[in-house]
Amino acid sequence: MSEKEAYIEEAEKYLFHVYNRFPVVFERGEGVRLYDTDGKEYLDFGSGIGVMALGYGDEEYKQILKDQIDRILHTSNLFYHPPLVAAAKAMVKVSGMDRVFFTNSGAEAVEGALKTAKKYAYLRDGVSGHEIIAMGHSFHGRTVGSLSVTGSEHYREPFLPLMDGVRFAEFNNIDSVKEQLSDQTCAIILEPVQGEGGLYPAEESFLKEIRKICDERDILLIFDEIQCGMGRTGSMFAFQKFGVRPDILTCAKAMGAGVPVGAFLVTDRVAEASLVPGDHGTTYGGNPLVCAAVAGTVDIMEKRNIVGQVAERTPYFEQVLDSFVDRYDFVTARRGMGFMQGLVLTIPVGDVIKKALDQGLVLLSAGSDVLRMLPPLVITEADMDEMAKRLGRVFDEVAVNRNK
Ligand SMILES: *Cc1c(COP(=O)(O)O)cnc(C)c1O
Repeated sequence: MSEKEAYIEEAEKYLFHVYNRFPVVFERGEGVRLYDTDGKEYLDFGSGIGVMALGYGDEEYKQILKDQIDRILHTSNLFYHPPLVAAAKAMVKVSGMDRVFFTNSGAEAVEGALKTAKKYAYLRDGVSGHEIIAMGHSFHGRTVGSLSVTGSEHYREPFLPLMDGVRFAEFNNIDSVKEQLSDQTCAIILEPVQGEGGLYPAEESFLKEIRKICDERDILLIFDEIQCGMGRTGSMFAFQKFGVRPDILTCAKAMGAGVPVGAFLVTDRVAEASLVPGDHGTTYGGNPLVCAAVAGTVDIMEKRNIVGQVAERTPYFEQVLDSFVDRYDFVTARRGMGFMQGLVLTIPVGDVIKKALDQGLVLLSAGSDVLRMLPPLVITEADMDEMAKRLGRVFDEVAVNRNK
């Protein structure tokens, strides 16, 4: 048994088997490359599911974390601490929202957003029992609240009954949203670019119509930008591209470039008429370590024009991916926005991902038929060429085997 096999066997002895992991043990990362325990090098086009925005081992980022560890790690939210202000200011500035609440994960950010919307409607109407409209094929997380608004029957079924009062509409279909409206509707939640659901960008007209409905009926619009936010689409948040501002915004993944942190942000109008002290809280949320990471990440992104670079390099990325659609009949389409892209395949995605790992390339899936790429935001055109070379080898092998 190799060292790696022994490690995996031991891991499986102790871990609750809730993931089918790939048989790779990553030991360290550098730039946009990962290295496993055998010293094998991998080009990373998954970035730990969209988290490692700056890639691995950025010197400036690492120094910010090290300095913070030397000062203080945790205080609880009973007190103030300097990185909290820096992170809050940074997030408010880049989002154009007014106020922020820090969480430890994306799902918790969604929970907070849902509670805020419910409390807002409760204070306005004096009664509870409000409803939320969510989209089919959406993904908002695995906690009970966030799962309740996740548009996949398969994820929800075993855990029913979940949160009551959720209705599902079809993404990019305004009539289906209208059909689900009622006097009880307090919020509409959606991802401006659906991630897990298959890399579907919203249509601008759909978002504008929804904004109009929300304004007319005092319904709060929640944008979940946990995956598409923080520069991934070539603007800091995808909604800024569409010119439609939400009332509540959720964020996580790339936000701390590697530390577990999320947030929900609200406008002043919402902040002044919803949650008050005692309504919500978290022990870890927004602690000094993660806030230093958030403030540092935003600062680095701005100083190095990382979001602008994503926008500049997107056409080349799309061109590289479109060439696969042209070359292989089992690659039927490309979908996505910026550095959040998917190739639609007619062959099993899992097999492609396994073969790509053999070739030294880390990729993701979205559902059973989309090969998903969420590379670090710092990839260059040379990295895209290298990805194309390695993925080309995988697809060539598939093509040869299909023609046998
Ligand atoms: C990943 C994701 C979540 C859940 O975030 P966790 O940190 O895994 O809880 C929620 N919404 C969207 C759009 C996501 O991509």
